[in-house]
Amino acid sequence: MTVETDASAALLADLGERLPGLRLLTDPGDRQSYRSDETAHWKAGLPLAVALPTSTDEVAEIMRAATRHRVPVVPRGAGSGLSGGSAGVEGALTVAFTRMNRIVEIDRANLVVVTQPGVINAELKAAVAREGLFYAPDPASYEFCSIGGNIGTNAGGLCCVKYGVTRDAVLALEVVLADGRVIRTGGRSVKDVAGYSLTHLFVGSQGTLCLVTEATLRLRPAPPAKVTMLAFFATLEAAGKAVAAITAAGLTPCTLELMDRVTIAAVDDWHNLGLDREAAGLLLVESDLPAGAAETELAAAITACEGAGATQVVRAESASEADWLRQVRRMAFRAMERLGTARMEDVGVPRSRVPELLTEIERVAAAHDVRCGTFGHAGDGNLHPTFVSTRGDQAEEARVEAACQELYRAALSLGGTVTGEHGIGAARRGLLELQRGEAAVSVMRAIKSALDPLGILNPGKVL
Ligand SMILES: Cc1cc2nc3c(=O)[nH]c(=O)nc-3n(C[C@H](O)[C@H](O)[C@H](O)COP(=O)(O)OP(=O)(O)OC[C@H]3O[C@@H](n4cnc5c(N)ncnc54)[C@H](O)[C@@H]3O)c2cc1C
Repeated sequence: MTVETDASAALLADLGERLPGLRLLTDPGDRQSYRSDETAHWKAGLPLAVALPTSTDEVAEIMRAATRHRVPVVPRGAGSGLSGGSAGVEGALTVAFTRMNRIVEIDRANLVVVTQPGVINAELKAAVAREGLFYAPDPASYEFCSIGGNIGTNAGGLCCVKYGVTRDAVLALEVVLADGRVIRTGGRSVKDVAGYSLTHLFVGSQGTLCLVTEATLRLRPAPPAKVTMLAFFATLEAAGKAVAAITAAGLTPCTLELMDRVTIAAVDDWHNLGLDREAAGLLLVESDLPAGAAETELAAAITACEGAGATQVVRAESASEADWLRQVRRMAFRAMERLGTARMEDVGVPRSRVPELLTEIERVAAAHDVRCGTFGHAGDGNLHPTFVSTRGDQAEEARVEAACQELYRAALSLGGTVTGEHGIGAARRGLLELQRGEAAVSVMRAIKSALDPLGILNPGKVL
């Protein structure tokens, strides 16, 4: 059902009049295709319409109109989110940034790139790589997620363990506020402490405080080619110990990722790769240090893995073999999706507590009799237990929900978080206060109402 109100009809008429060139999708089929993100278990609302602006001025005009008519707006990137952040809200206007997909400038002298939000992460990486430069944040979805969405969620990825998350790469933003004002935060200076850091506030705000229309991102000189290995373990505890040993040895791998037995089997079943299916888990470890240092670092990582009980180590002998090993990890979620409705969770703990978190995940899945495969960014203490239920089996879905609730609490009791990188969004909203406490959430509400007093920006998300 769509909420057709006088206000929504008036908004669409107003937009048609003021922005005759704006691409505005009102056909039910088009609206349906912008309804959900990748959060399979979240029931999204049908957007009133979908606007595809091409400039900051158009976004500002849209927000002035939305404010006048008090119609909510859902900002949307590529729709790959896993917390319902860009999922439709019944009767709200979805603003998708697909057509704001221009890289504005690559500034070598200051090692920054200025980009519109609709640019796909992989395209930005490729464009700066052609200049011998490197944009670090690399979510496993980098081939299809957008920079705006990465900023909206403060996305992590495989190389955050060394280079940090999206927030660490954002120097400045141009944003449109709920009332249509356009402001700029930050700048190209490496050091800049003038006033509160609005840049940091907006990164990760999941479209609830502003719409990002341009971003200035930090670049690095391109690192050397990576050396890559997979280490297999007979128990997950041993894999967890290897992660702790690698960190404790002071190594700085650029990738330190884990997959458990269920995920290994799911990937192997899909692509017949000949992975060691007897293993309880594997670690993907990579180094991008210069010259021989990478080999030395990988050798030290192998020593740490073997010390923790690795049963087998596979070294990539070429760049294409390394790509192949990396793909094993990147395929994990899609492989799990082939088994049923896959609910990817996103808990995080301090790195030293990864072995305890792994034990808790196994315990919770067994206690609720649910299928679960775990993979993720072990080097960051951020794991993605992915629960699979048979499509349409409501009893199983209810058991998965109960397992997730117990898992969130387990992560919190280990000093961790209910979401490491996917966000509270819509799907984890009830958990924010449990983790942050009432006082902190009331500060967040005060910020929200200062910036969006009518509550029209992505309602029902985060708060
Ligand atoms: C297979 C797979 C692997 C994944 N791997 C990772 C991973 O390794 N690390 C990780 O962090 N995530 C991962 N994700 C989740 C997802 O890809 C990221 O959250 C990504 O940042 C979302 O980008 P998007 O362009 O799809 O944004 P969307 O999903 O469209 O939006 C995400 C949020 O950002 C907001 N938003 C989007 N654009 C703007 C804008 N211009 N202004 C303001 N707000 C905006 C939206 O309102 C929403 O709240 C994965 C997802 C899949 C399906």
